[in-house]
Amino acid sequence: MNKLINIAIDGPSGSGKSTLASMIAAHYGFIYIDTGAMYRTVGLYIQRKGFASDDKEAIVSVLPEINIDMVLMNGKGVVTLDGVPVGDEIRTPKSSMYASDVSKIPEVRAFLLDLQRDIAKRRSTVMDGRDIGTVILPDAQVKLFLIADDTVRAHRRYMELLEKGEKVTEEEVLSDMRRRDKNDSGREVCPAVAAKDAILLDNSGLSAEATFEKAKEIIDGVLAK
Ligand code: C5P
Repeated sequence: MNKLINIAIDGPSGSGKSTLASMIAAHYGFIYIDTGAMYRTVGLYIQRKGFASDDKEAIVSVLPEINIDMVLMNGKGVVTLDGVPVGDEIRTPKSSMYASDVSKIPEVRAFLLDLQRDIAKRRSTVMDGRDIGTVILPDAQVKLFLIADDTVRAHRRYMELLEKGEKVTEEEVLSDMRRRDKNDSGREVCPAVAAKDAILLDNSGLSAEATFEKAKEIIDGVLAK
């Protein structure tokens, strides 16, 4: 049987984690798990309930009723809510902020932990998020921490949102991103920090392909050992 490989990719929003993770998954035939989509889905549920994103008590009280799962489609884990795959509704600027706010709540993190770990136990996985290398998969064979200047990240996100027809300005995207960065790296539980054994990859001036080539070099080096 092939050895089970886990690759953890962490880093701030817009640093290119999902693009890189998809390319790695396709190249090595691994499953791609986007843990941000899980936090976004919890955020969406809370939004639909009409709760404020910082109403911790209300949010924690409804966690047991959230029927979230993951199905595999074309090598990617797709998050489902009540058995229905969630779509682009979790990608709006409002959903991003809800995801960032609910992810500060320890009970929400605990609620999603097993779902994330279980998949990686069964299949070779590339998983991206904020605490994959530090908390979820501390034994991952490869840990990458992607970074890029916030103006570069905001520009990438702005272009993505434009393509989806969202009406936002680049300034709004940058200011949202800075707020999320502060939220995600400054929070008490599972802040978005690099694991001690993570390899830092700054892709500010790199294309997706060039970033992938660098990551591939690192991964091939580890797998060859
Ligand atoms: O990665 P993405 O931007 O889709 O994640 C949305 C939000 O979910 C992040 O801003 C972060 O607050 C939260 N998140 C997290 N831990 C993860 C993945 C995402 O706290 N492992």
